[in-house]
Formats: sequence, structure tokens, C-alpha cells
Amino acid sequence: MQSTATGSSASASLDHSLPKWVFLQLLESCNLRCKMCYEWGENGPYNEKKILKQLDIKVVKDIISTCSSVQPYYELYGGEPLLYPHIGEVLKAIHDAGSKVHMPTNGTLLEKHAELLVTYPPERIWVSLDGPIEINDEQRGKGVFQKAVKGIEKLLRLREEAGSKYPQIGISTVVTPRNFRHLERFFFEALDISKLDCISIELQAYITEQNHKDYEGVLRREFGVNSAPVSRGFVCDPAMFADIDAGLIARQIQTIAEYCEVEGKYLNTYPKVMSEDNIRKYFSADWFSMTKVKKRCPFPWVSTEINAQGDVTSCHAYYDLTLGNVNEASIAEIWRGEKYTQYRNYLRKQLLPICQGCCLFYNEKPMMA
Ligand code: SF4
Ligand code: SF4
Repeated sequence: MQSTATGSSASASLDHSLPKWVFLQLLESCNLRCKMCYEWGENGPYNEKKILKQLDIKVVKDIISTCSSVQPYYELYGGEPLLYPHIGEVLKAIHDAGSKVHMPTNGTLLEKHAELLVTYPPERIWVSLDGPIEINDEQRGKGVFQKAVKGIEKLLRLREEAGSKYPQIGISTVVTPRNFRHLERFFFEALDISKLDCISIELQAYITEQNHKDYEGVLRREFGVNSAPVSRGFVCDPAMFADIDAGLIARQIQTIAEYCEVEGKYLNTYPKVMSEDNIRKYFSADWFSMTKVKKRCPFPWVSTEINAQGDVTSCHAYYDLTLGNVNEASIAEIWRGEKYTQYRNYLRKQLLPICQGCCLFYNEKPMMA
């Protein structure tokens, strides 16, 4: 699941005793097999797994309780987070702890969970759709578009009946070689854009074979980790983007951005600057000549991610280097532990060879809505 870790204002506190932003991968399972998915797609590591993991609900509640003093933002991931059997308990626990939560979903279970999502509303739900019906369903599976749209409609209706603004509902779109020609048609014809609260458009996250090799080298030399199978799921040959028309993408996004500005809708993009030049460089693996490229990453000091196995990492979706496990120690102990310190010390001086394939690389600062 591509991240939609987004927002519009930062609350940078100096208290680093606990994470201010917690990503929870509730489970690995998903009911779809999207072609471009780094978990379940063609290179996805989960295809080989015999046993799929999910977080123990007791452990999830412990994390929420431990972190409640700093009221972090939460992001719930999967797989498909709405498949998690205890999703209601998680939303209630976060709600009761006074925290806010964002959640991406493939939309197919929205209709089923609409009542719950209005009772304990996430601040924002991002529905992942990639284009008009035929484009989306070619990438994500037959019938997915219609199911997601029905779910959104039900959620909007229940939200209105409840007299609430929440959950805000956004569409999250990943630009790939399959859909890049259809962005405008998608937002202005296939969807009723006026009903959405927000839009996220991200270029497909990827790393090269060489980035992956370099990352394996860093993990081996610096952290004693001998393989990196999870990050392999992000490896793509940039040649697969050869037909992408950067100018066409930039023009379409510009039109969408103008609409959002006029209508007061929040638009998130990764990378932030969606110029023709930036998009061309991005899809040519020429990331470091792009506008506004980071030299360091601040996230290990503010955010943490716990995957479905209980492993803790500071890097969203890159689970090869873990800094502890919440089934063995509390999140507070891990966050303040020696391994995390070693990791932060490394990142004080440089990035990782896979950072350009991480959505957080394109966040200028920790941002939560
Ligand atoms: S819905 Fe998300 S997690 Fe599931 S296969 Fe598609 S991209 Fe992957
Ligand atoms: S940008 Fe790099 S260091 Fe920062 S969270 Fe992403 S992969 Fe980790």
C-alpha cells in the first residue's frame, strides 16, 4: 500500500521521549493483488509467505496507551487495514486516547464498515484509486472501482446524517505507466470530485537494482543485517518508465491543482514540486537533481513504524532493518534503545540508498493534518 502520509501543519515539539507519529501495519493480508503493489505485486515479498502476520490487538492497545501522553498521529496500514479483525477496537482506542488517525484503504470494504468509520472517525480516509474504471480495474482488479465508489457514497451519506465533517475522504492516486494519460479524465469525469475533501497524487515509488544492492551493503556493514527482501519489492528498472510523458503529467496535475485551489480542497503531491522537469528526473532515477531534494531525514526522531510482525523500524514500508519488536519490549524502550540511537547516529550524517523510494523523503517536515 503506497503511503498517503500527508497533512497541512506540523506540531514540532521538542519532546522526543516518544514518537509523535506512529505507523501501524495492522496486518499483511489484502483482498486485492494490485499489479504495482510493493507487497503483493509482481516483485512483492508477500506472495511467497506461507503464514501472514497481524498485530496482536493487546500489543496495539499497549502502544496506544504508552504513547497517549504525547498524543501522536496514527496511520493504519496493511495489506488492507479494514480487513483487520479488531479494526473497531483500534479506532476506538485511538479516539479515546485523544489522537488522530489517517488510513489508506483500497475502498472495497468501506461500505461494510461505514457505520464504524462514522462512529469512530479517522480524521482522513484515503481511498486508493488509480484512474477511470477500466484503468483502475486493470491495475487493481475487476469491480474494485465500483465497490470503492459505492463505499464512498455510503460514507458520505452517513457522515452527513451524523452532522459530522469526519472522516474526511480523499482519493489517493499513484501515477504509473498504465494510468498517466488519464489523470484529468479520472478526476473530472469518472469521479464526482466536488464530493471529495482532498486528493493525493504520488509518482510510483521505486528504487533501482543498484540502490537495492547499496542498501544491502549498508545494512550488512553498519547494522549486521544480511539480506533485504522487503525493499526488493520496490525494485524497478527505470526503463519501464520510458514511455511516460512528464509534460502531460505535469499539465494534468496543474489543472487538478488549480481546481483544488479554487475549491479549497487539500492537494498532496509526492514529490512536492510536480514540474515537467522534476517528473522526468524522477522517472529517470535522476532523483538528486530534482528541485528541493533532502540531504537528511528527520523522521527517525519523530516517527516510528510497527509492522504486522511487531518489528519496529523508522522507515515507512522498508522493514528490512528493525530496531526492536513490540512483542518483546515496549515501544518506549525500543524508541529510546541502543539500536534506535545507532540508527539515528547513522542518519545524522547521510541518507540511505533507498530514501528516494520512500514517501517520507518527499515530506519537507513531519506533517500531519
Ligand atoms: S490494495 Fe494496497 S496492499 Fe492490497 S494489493 Fe493493492 S496496493 Fe497492495
Ligand atoms: S527518507 Fe529514508 S531515512 Fe527517512 S524514513 Fe524514508 S527511508 Fe527512512
